[in-house]
Amino acid sequence: MPESFKVLEVVCPTCGKAKSINVPEAIFSQKKFGTVKIQIPINAVCPEHQFIVFVDTKGIIRGYEKIDILMGAISPEVDREAAGRVNLRNLIQIFGIYGIFSLIHGKIFNYPSYVIKDENFQYDEALLNSVGDNILPETYRESKTIHIIENPDINKIKIKDRDALILDTSQHIFQTPWTIKLKFEEQIIKRALDIIDEEQQLKLLQQDISKLINEVHYTVSILEEIDQIYEDELIVRISKKFGRKKISNYHFNLIKEFIRRNISRKLVSKIKNRVGEFLSVI
Ligand SMILES: [Zn+2]
Repeated sequence: MPESFKVLEVVCPTCGKAKSINVPEAIFSQKKFGTVKIQIPINAVCPEHQFIVFVDTKGIIRGYEKIDILMGAISPEVDREAAGRVNLRNLIQIFGIYGIFSLIHGKIFNYPSYVIKDENFQYDEALLNSVGDNILPETYRESKTIHIIENPDINKIKIKDRDALILDTSQHIFQTPWTIKLKFEEQIIKRALDIIDEEQQLKLLQQDISKLINEVHYTVSILEEIDQIYEDELIVRISKKFGRKKISNYHFNLIKEFIRRNISRKLVSKIKNRVGEFLSVI
């Protein structure tokens, strides 16, 4: 059956450049996921900016999100999937940069990820999982969190997991189970892409993630010793320990999310918020 498309008038959220793009009808005929995030890479609408557009099942644009990362243009002659080789740039071409942020987030924070594959997609589950494992410290490897779904018909997909990331290999994201922004992932990918050597890119990602996990382990060691602690106090202690200027609330939330998803919900519940005092500061 030939694929039919719907035309969508998209406007760059940064500079206002407008262009029509074709979106597969199947994206809109599904009712299961509601709003879908569609990644718009550089040159698809705007030669300078890439972004995400949120589209509901009626084909109405509900919003935009900018992607600030600047990628040295990936040259088109880079083979989409050079035989069995898997590297960051190839993966970004397939999943889109935001898809990669999402897959990395899913891997670090232990969310199951479902990849709906098209017929051109040649990687298997084991390979994707091993790439994912490679960016994690050893203790957190081996959880097989990435699953490939062969059936291209979105309506036939049955995924029980409400906690899952669901995306396809054409830069559409159907479900993200978190609300946190993917700034951390953006930052570490940015650093990695500055390096040319492909293996070094993955190593650098692993180093950056290990740093976060070191902070997590220190935080856990504090939480295990006490009944409860105020958030601000904990932030000061972590910052001091790692010789950093005060870590941001965003970064602290990453630490908490990691503990909640990978270690223990109960430990996180020991962290208390000084709501009243916080409000009086504003
Ligand atoms: Zn633009």
